[in-house]
Amino acid sequence: MSDDLGPDDSLVTDAESAFMTLSHDLRLKILLALWNAPEFSLSFSELRKAVGERDSGSFNYHLSQLEGHFVASTEDGYELQYPGHRVLDAIQSGVFHDEAVIGPVGLDETCRECGSELTFEYDTNYIGRVHCPECDNRVLEWPFDPGGTVDRDPAAVVATFDRRTRLIWSCVLDGVCPFCAGRVDREFANHIGQQGTCVGVIEQLDRYDEYFARDHPVVVFVDCSRCSFYSFIPVGMVLLTRPKILGVLQDAGLNVRDTPLWGLEFVVAADAITLRTHDPVQVSVAVPEIDRPVSVVLDESFSVTVEAVD
Ligand SMILES: [Zn+2]
Ligand SMILES: [Zn+2]
Repeated sequence: MSDDLGPDDSLVTDAESAFMTLSHDLRLKILLALWNAPEFSLSFSELRKAVGERDSGSFNYHLSQLEGHFVASTEDGYELQYPGHRVLDAIQSGVFHDEAVIGPVGLDETCRECGSELTFEYDTNYIGRVHCPECDNRVLEWPFDPGGTVDRDPAAVVATFDRRTRLIWSCVLDGVCPFCAGRVDREFANHIGQQGTCVGVIEQLDRYDEYFARDHPVVVFVDCSRCSFYSFIPVGMVLLTRPKILGVLQDAGLNVRDTPLWGLEFVVAADAITLRTHDPVQVSVAVPEIDRPVSVVLDESFSVTVEAVD
């Protein structure tokens, strides 16, 4: 999320130039042909044949527009470059041109509120949702790309949604944007009034009203300094990024890898989270689902200590 209100003129110019370079179907065909080729490389004649362009002048012109950035000329012909791969990766994610509908898929986990079976659903608004169809308890929601539904049965889509959401949350909590590689700032935050104390800036951000974990006493606000990404992540996710904590949970018999995020109470249950003090911020996360329950305490720098619970 940028602090600037207006668009950055040089960014607009650079981005327009890049998008214009890709604005002809023949150029996308050239990228696709190289992507499908062995070692992403073809000779001039192979590439022209693969694209099926009879007009050599037109083919030469459009190839020259891609050369140097998206495509490199080599001794043997032409080779797809990293930026070319990234264009195709973005297309394959499906978000530009595709939609998918999955579910509702019944899950093994049950609703903490009413005991009913939870379900997973994905539809054309690009959000994967785990919720309870009986009491409408929203357990976990996060964006998902339509590409994740291709060549997978519904159970595999659900598992993929869990894995990908973990990956994104872990990356973001480590300060790295998974979308643009920019710097992500993180801080504890909550709604003013919820605990009588606001520890962050959330009240200015409308998106929080729709956040599935807005009932948590405190969440992690994450904000990319470079791209449009900003969001909120349940505090309990921090535990899954610390080998020290994973070791404690593993020793206590809780397999956090085989249990999906929505089955981990310390991630999705509001009452697992306590804002102990707000200045400085100290948050504790209860892990009640092991025989000898522990509490993990996080300070403002997100360092963690484990406390035994009597
Ligand atoms: Zn329910
Ligand atoms: Zn970013």
